[in-house]
Amino acid sequence: MILVTGGAGFIGSNFVLTWLAQSQEPVLNLDALTYAGNLANLASLQGDARHTFVQGDICDRALMDQLLASHRPRAIVHFAAESHVDRSIHGPGAFMKTNVDGTFTLLEAARAHWSSLQGDEKAAFRFHHVSTDEVYGSLKPSDPPFAETNAYEPNSPYSASKAASDHLVRAWHHTYGLPVVTTNCSNNYGPYHFPEKLIPLMIVNALAGKPLPVYGDGQQIRDWLYVEDHCSGIRAVLAGGRLGETYNIGGWNEKANLDIVKTVCALLDELRPDPAGPYSRLITYVTDRPGHDRRYAIDARKIERELGWRPAETFDTGIRKTVQWYLDHPEWVAQVQSGSYRDWLATNYTGR
Ligand code: NAD
Repeated sequence: MILVTGGAGFIGSNFVLTWLAQSQEPVLNLDALTYAGNLANLASLQGDARHTFVQGDICDRALMDQLLASHRPRAIVHFAAESHVDRSIHGPGAFMKTNVDGTFTLLEAARAHWSSLQGDEKAAFRFHHVSTDEVYGSLKPSDPPFAETNAYEPNSPYSASKAASDHLVRAWHHTYGLPVVTTNCSNNYGPYHFPEKLIPLMIVNALAGKPLPVYGDGQQIRDWLYVEDHCSGIRAVLAGGRLGETYNIGGWNEKANLDIVKTVCALLDELRPDPAGPYSRLITYVTDRPGHDRRYAIDARKIERELGWRPAETFDTGIRKTVQWYLDHPEWVAQVQSGSYRDWLATNYTGR
């Protein structure tokens, strides 16, 4: 069994679904179900005995100790976090609490659990920390992409909190010997992405005929990876990554935000034409985010070289799949937007 934290969020739920599609090994899924956690993402696992869901907070040390002692997972894959940069600017406290204190609590619980293990069980144990490329700061146009050796230069409360958590994980390995691996990934996109983030927001707003807000000049560059490719990268590092090492995961897909929005509009024009005209008519420039990083790009050669990992999707195939998924799942979008999935949880979800 593996313990996944944050497994009802965007990437965590994709990870749980793809894990159970490929493996019989059960998943214990711990998630606090903040606004970003959505059990509707896991509806296809209803009744699947390999998936056990527990609603709880990674800051709750007693709960973490109890879960680790009773389920004895061979690995922890740690996704749980506050993840939205804009929210971190308006309210950084929750980011410090979950991303820093929560990771600290989980590390301490993992250390106690790991110390209690013996022999092969102890040798096999892994703590996999899931992190972001935003810890490296912002690149100039001429800079090479982020390598694992880049200095940490976080610029937002979100990236600072993730950088702090990365440092804690590193220190727990060097000080206590906890068997850790860390992955730093570029921007993800794909199914079950909460529509506060760029790509789902543009799809959802365009379909509703609402403005498509683009920060500043829209020339901020991000490196995009289809979420299932991030999940396969995590599986590769969990299985074969060297202890104490960090691995960058990315798809070599640098795109300006404005180009992303135009691509989404063009796909919608093709797949769901609007009689009122091209969706790009809805693009609206808004005041830039304070401290907005200009460019992120990932050098993924280490994970490619050491573990033979490659993304399965190109940006063209992944973004088409993503737009189609949102067109095919209007009930998921409506539920997330209304917040009624919490009611759905109370009435429909049986605990698995
Ligand atoms: P998300 O916001 O969609 O999901 C986070 C999940 O964590 C939610 O289900 C939420 O309920 C849960 N959670 C929050 N606080 C918790 C707590 N205290 N205890 C237990 N559960 C809690 O985020 P995401 O986009 O899926 O990101 C997952 C991880 O991947 C994060 O650690 C993030 O930093 C990292 N990451 C994200 C991206 C990206 O593009 N989204 C890229 C690289 C790395």
